[in-house]
Amino acid sequence: MTVFSPAYGGVRPVSDGVSAPGPGDRILAQMPVALFALASQPDGRMAFTATAGAFLDVFGVPPDVAELDASAVLQLVHPDDLSDLQQAMETSMGLGEEFAARFRISRPGSGTAWVAIRADPVVQPAGGMAWFGYARLLTPVEVSDLVIEAERHRLVGILWSIDAGTWEWNLLTGAARLDERWAGILGYTLDDLHPVSMETVHGLMHHGDRTAMDEVTARYFAGDQGTFRTTVRMRHRDGHWVWMELRGRLVSRTPDGMPEWMSGIALDDSEAKDTEEQMRTASHYARSLIEASVDPLVTISVDGHIMDVNRATETATGRPRHTLIGSDFSEYFTDPEQARAVYRQVFELGRVVDYPLTISHADGHRIEVLYNASTYLDRDGRVAGVFAAARDVTDVRRTQAALEETNRDALLLAQMSDLLQSCQTVDEAIPVIEAAMRELFPGSDGRAFLFNSGSGMLDEAMTWGALPAGGPSIPQGDCWALRRNSPHEVGFGAPLAPPCHSLDADGRPYLCIPLVAHGTALGIVHLVAPGNQAPGERFRALARSTADSISLALANIRLRENLHALSTRDPLTGLYNRRFLEEALARELSRASRSRTSGVLAMLDIDHFKRFNDEFGHDAGDAVLVAVAHELGGFRRGSDLACRWGGEEFLLVLAEIGLDDAVTRLEGLRRTIGELAAFHDGHALPPITVSIGLAQFPHPGRVSADVITAADKALYRAKEGGRDRLVVSDDAPPAAALPPG
Ligand code: GH3
Ligand code: MG
Ligand code: MG
Repeated sequence: MTVFSPAYGGVRPVSDGVSAPGPGDRILAQMPVALFALASQPDGRMAFTATAGAFLDVFGVPPDVAELDASAVLQLVHPDDLSDLQQAMETSMGLGEEFAARFRISRPGSGTAWVAIRADPVVQPAGGMAWFGYARLLTPVEVSDLVIEAERHRLVGILWSIDAGTWEWNLLTGAARLDERWAGILGYTLDDLHPVSMETVHGLMHHGDRTAMDEVTARYFAGDQGTFRTTVRMRHRDGHWVWMELRGRLVSRTPDGMPEWMSGIALDDSEAKDTEEQMRTASHYARSLIEASVDPLVTISVDGHIMDVNRATETATGRPRHTLIGSDFSEYFTDPEQARAVYRQVFELGRVVDYPLTISHADGHRIEVLYNASTYLDRDGRVAGVFAAARDVTDVRRTQAALEETNRDALLLAQMSDLLQSCQTVDEAIPVIEAAMRELFPGSDGRAFLFNSGSGMLDEAMTWGALPAGGPSIPQGDCWALRRNSPHEVGFGAPLAPPCHSLDADGRPYLCIPLVAHGTALGIVHLVAPGNQAPGERFRALARSTADSISLALANIRLRENLHALSTRDPLTGLYNRRFLEEALARELSRASRSRTSGVLAMLDIDHFKRFNDEFGHDAGDAVLVAVAHELGGFRRGSDLACRWGGEEFLLVLAEIGLDDAVTRLEGLRRTIGELAAFHDGHALPPITVSIGLAQFPHPGRVSADVITAADKALYRAKEGGRDRLVVSDDAPPAAALPPG
């Protein structure tokens, strides 16, 4: 066994019986190698019990220090390497095998160096264990290999941790180098794919992605992209497609500058792709929902700028998306200040519901909306902006307004009908209808015509608007509305409708509506639309229902007039009946008293009429009664009244007449009746005579019944006196009661 001195360049025996330095020692002195014996001490420490060669150079510790305690060396071992070293020593000791290790040591004064150590364990004769071996500094080449290996190890670790495969392609030869992980992404081992070339890679690639990859490659070489990066579908061993992301770069060129080797990593991107696909689907779905909304939807930033809009917003504002985005949201409302106030409210309350605002469309029209908005939060729970939806309620409002108008019209019509119900005569009804037409058709002009059964003409009954009163009467047959018994519209987009000959509307659209009730034509309403525009359906519908109401009301008035006539007239002769005369006579008596004028009541009775009937028949008698009545009607003047008192008796009330004049006129009447020639069945009937009793009025204290009785008494006397004569009541009123003259 050889024991060496630790001194560099020298050898010194460390125990007795060691020979003097020989040629080996000299060689040793020239080499950067340290020889050593490392033994355990009785106290349990380890010590370099013998050293030779460049101990200080290798370990950075003087041999005499290490001889006392090996820990002086161990302290200098790089902490990252220490445990490996100790582990190797323990293993060697346990198994009795050599140990070899490489470690870094921080030598004081000369920096860190890599040391390689080799030693064999030997059991000491005195007990305990010793290692005999050597240590040397690694050469620079060995160190750089070591660093490269460590770096490679580190990179493999990184690649492993990102689960990346590696690839290298030779662009010129088509050669390829792939690693196990690359093959593993597709479910293969490298052996499965052997021999590997670019062909192998292309063969596994989805056909549809090869062009895409060629394009990416071209762009990379054109210098557009710093890194070659693309994602392609590769067929997995199982047959499904795997999204493989390839990243890499050119790593070498040929001496003449041609791109040669590219290398890079391959990542299994399927999961990301799937997630991306799901995200895209989800985002597409959300977008579709937003775009499907017919309501304008807008997101607005905290400072009031539009961030996003849907198509409905473009439509509602009449502005394209790119104009809207980034602009101030309030400028699209007719009242921007109000819009901003609502916006502030959203921040205060978190939301605003159904706030009415008006959008101003680019073409100037307005859209009434109900504005609903709420704040939305970012990931940290802060208010990021406002999400607003606006519901177009223009149509609803229009319908509402139309409803209100319709209600108003209905109310007016009802009022008109109500008032017309209370009218006694058509004359009373006319101002009511006129006022209603002005209210129902503001701005329109019009006339109403009523049918005159006497002349067969339509006579103007009223006008409203700008039309002058006193227009022409229209022959009933000239009126298209009455001929067709339906509204006649001119200028309402019915080019064939013939205009009226008689009524001129200055080229404005007009309609004529027949007034018909219970099948009887009563007249027409001629309604000229306001302005030159043909009015809408509402106007026409209203015109029709108004005409219906008027027709019905007029018909009722006519009916009432006829009923009244029935109740006041004698059906056979058409003269007033007894009931009417009693009322009328009372009115006439008080009028005469007030106006201090006198009048005369005459009672006429046909002589021997019973006989006449007996002789010529009742119908002949009727013909005579009608003829006498007709004579009385013609005899009447001004406010005189003629009445059939009953049977063959008649009453005449002559107003504002003195007794003498009355006697003269009535004598004349008596003679005329005596000469009457009535006809029956084409035969002339013999003349009849009448007797007349006469009483003057007013008479103080006398009511109409008294006057009638007086006249009746006078008549009785006329009969007694031989008939066919006139007798004045001798019950004459005092001269004071009668007017002078
Ligand atoms: P005197 O000259 O006294 O008046 O005789 P008189 O026959 O006219 O009188 P009387 O009162 O006896 O008879 C009246 C007759 O009048 C009886 C009736 O036949 C007839 N008379 C009453 N009303 C009608 C009627 O509506 N039509 C017809 N044809 N005859 C009537
Ligand atoms: Mg009589
Ligand atoms: Mg008689």
